[in-house]
Amino acid sequence: LAAERALVDSLVAENAETWDLAGRIPAEVLRELGTAGLLCAQVPTAHGGRGLTSADNGEFTAHVGSRCSSLRSVMTSQGMAAWTVQRFGDRSQRDTLLAQLTSGHLAAVGFSEPEAGSDLSAIRTEIRAEGDTVVVTGHKVWMTAACYADLLIVVGRFDGGAAAVVVPSSADGVRVRKVADPLGCRAAGHAEVELDEVRLPASSVLGGVGQSLPLLLTTALAYGRFSVAWGCVGILRACLASAAAHAANRTQSGVPLAGHQLVARHLAELVADERTAALACERASRCWDEASPDLVIATVLAKHVSARNAARGAARAVQVLASAGARDGHVVARAYRDAKLMELIEGSNEICQLLLAEHAVAGAS
Ligand code: FAD
Repeated sequence: LAAERALVDSLVAENAETWDLAGRIPAEVLRELGTAGLLCAQVPTAHGGRGLTSADNGEFTAHVGSRCSSLRSVMTSQGMAAWTVQRFGDRSQRDTLLAQLTSGHLAAVGFSEPEAGSDLSAIRTEIRAEGDTVVVTGHKVWMTAACYADLLIVVGRFDGGAAAVVVPSSADGVRVRKVADPLGCRAAGHAEVELDEVRLPASSVLGGVGQSLPLLLTTALAYGRFSVAWGCVGILRACLASAAAHAANRTQSGVPLAGHQLVARHLAELVADERTAALACERASRCWDEASPDLVIATVLAKHVSARNAARGAARAVQVLASAGARDGHVVARAYRDAKLMELIEGSNEICQLLLAEHAVAGAS
């Protein structure tokens, strides 16, 4: 993927800091990567995608994450949208929507609501059938990339179960409001989305029928967790590179910082955090590529280990750089803010711990 990485490097260049401070990635950057099929590179070639294996898609995601977590967050949303279409869409929806998502249309996915965060069984958004149309009413919060999106994949209650419905962001009754000043991933386009009696063709419901809500959530979130996990490996790689270079080059008390054993320990722990996160992600990717039944739990483990390691690794990197990294847009300062958010989303640390413990107990009984 050398050419694809080079394209990302040329587009991001030294801009990640500027985008972070401005709270916006230029639309042409997202369109260029989207048109190249690189925002959801796992989509099969038959649908216009790159058809990357999970392992290659993961390494590519880590590369983007090492350069700009906001851009990687947009990729995660696009990839999750594409995966949801791939798994729940009928043939015609897959043909149409995947072609759009690999040719420059941007998408965001909405589960969370004001009263439904960790507990998504509490979602209230309603998708109501009326003849050959459906009407969507609800309120979604913190939808990553919604400020950029042409299509909003909205999860709601439908037909006695649940469904994901594809809502054009331009539809009547849709209101998108940017989240002001998020702690991190500031250019990821997070938004609140209000849907007020949005009327759409019935064919907007993926698969056309009600699904089980837990199945819908587990499937879509599995991709989100996979992508966030690999993105966190990228954060760790950027932190390690920055901390190692600084510790090698700055001298205090007559020796390079790396010559002070307490600083060297920070570097050693950063190496360990990056390697363990990468190994957990590589295992999760193998499970995806082999369609292993361990896929869901391996992905939860990868997400948990990588987010936790990235948050503590970024804190170590800030410690090693000290005042040299204590500036808002600096790579380690951004990592420190961005990584913390990764411990909250796609299943917070606590929710991942509960899932891992549940799995352990089920295995023991
Ligand atoms: P709460 O659920 O209120 O939890 C608060 C705290 O209590 C957390 O520490 C949590 O771990 C803990 N907690 C809650 N329940 C339990 C429990 N049963 N056991 C133990 N601890 C518990 N949503 C989308 O739908 N689409 C997106 O694209 C999206 N992107 C996001 C991007 C960012 C940067 C952020 C911050 C959020 C995003 N979200 C998105 C929302 C995100 O999924 C929720 O923030 C997350 O699920 C946590 O919900 P909450 O914030 O309401 O916290």
